[in-house]
Amino acid sequence: MKPLADAQREILAAMRRLPAVRVPLDEAGGLVLAEAVTAPHSVPPFANSAVDGYAVRAADTGAAPVDLVVIEDIPAGSVPARIVEAGTAARIMTGASIPAGADAVVMVEDTELAEGGVTVAASVAAGNNVRPAGGDLKAGATVFAPGERISPAHVGVLASIGVAEPLVVRRPTVAVLSTGDELVPAGTATLPPGAIRDSNGPMLVAMLRELGVTVLDMGIVPDDEVLLRSSLAEAASSADAVVTSGGVSMGEHDLVKKVLAELGSVDFWKVAMQPAKPFAFGFLDETPLFGLPGNPVSVIVAFEQFVRPALLRRMGARRLFRPRGRAVAGEQLRTDGEKTVFLRVVVRRGEGAAEVFLAGGQGSNVLSALAAADAFAVVPAGVDMVEIGEPVELEWFRGAETRTMEEVLGE
Ligand code: AMP
Ligand code: MG
Repeated sequence: MKPLADAQREILAAMRRLPAVRVPLDEAGGLVLAEAVTAPHSVPPFANSAVDGYAVRAADTGAAPVDLVVIEDIPAGSVPARIVEAGTAARIMTGASIPAGADAVVMVEDTELAEGGVTVAASVAAGNNVRPAGGDLKAGATVFAPGERISPAHVGVLASIGVAEPLVVRRPTVAVLSTGDELVPAGTATLPPGAIRDSNGPMLVAMLRELGVTVLDMGIVPDDEVLLRSSLAEAASSADAVVTSGGVSMGEHDLVKKVLAELGSVDFWKVAMQPAKPFAFGFLDETPLFGLPGNPVSVIVAFEQFVRPALLRRMGARRLFRPRGRAVAGEQLRTDGEKTVFLRVVVRRGEGAAEVFLAGGQGSNVLSALAAADAFAVVPAGVDMVEIGEPVELEWFRGAETRTMEEVLGE
């Protein structure tokens, strides 16, 4: 059996980054920056008010309550026309430019309208309620490094500095197909005897969409040599990666394997992990192929451990792996000591450390337990029992990736 980390290292080392292109900012979410981004100007671009209130000279408010003459009104988006001299104030809205002479803003709640001006009830110190120019980003600063995946917050930052067409790695197209004579589409009203509905196909499509790639859904391909060959060839020639499920385990009559071996250079692995021990990886011409096992829980685990990090690397991302954390076993956890085991668990906040409990049956066909789970409890090879109260490592499979290849697998 191949250790999990070796399998991950081999796959990631074989991934080539796709070319960079400029895309409109509103299409950039989920893609990865291909160059460093620097700020052409400060953010905020000018000192502005954090509140609705009155721009003042802080020294004038030392003996509050004090009456000040209001010299103008500064709504957001306008440019102040006058200088705030001693004894005066300017009415100002949140986000509006701080007028010359003023060094603080008194919030409207601490004021009262007075004859010809305003009564300031509370004193402020210089800088209070003022957001300085460059307080968020300084002009010329490196804002993002290449390899950062663009989250909604990144989109906002890029917009704030006028990057309307970021340079990103092109969005990959990924082909998906489910293999197996027993499979019928989810929409089949009455199940024929011996048939099951294809859950892997829709599941893989959902995971790929969440990753932000373009999906080429090739549906179900029966265990038929001619059909398999033509479907795989089409997938390889039209996509940047191919993901299949089924047909790669030992007991299979060797159809999928035979066709894959003919079409390209694909290796069939037994990875020391549970679920998802059987796994195929290789290339059909230049196109990487990921052959996942058939059992649906194995599909998700293999996708998480191999396909998602590999596609993120192909997309140029620096951080490839989901976040991990720690908790303690809330019940005794027995595992196979020869493998890295991914238990499907719910996580409950206890008095002290968070506690994990099995989310349901741990068979690799029991998808309902994975749907109910909050996280994987990752029990490494070499451990076959975690007692109640002992620490256990969690992988948050719904979290945005935080860990780099170097952090997870070493140099
Ligand atoms: P295989 O690896 O092809 O031997 O499949 C292993 C198990 O997964 C069998 O019980 C299959 O029926 C099941 N399976 C294979 N493909 C799918 C699929 N697309 N959806 C649901 N179950 C599947
Ligand atoms: Mg099969």
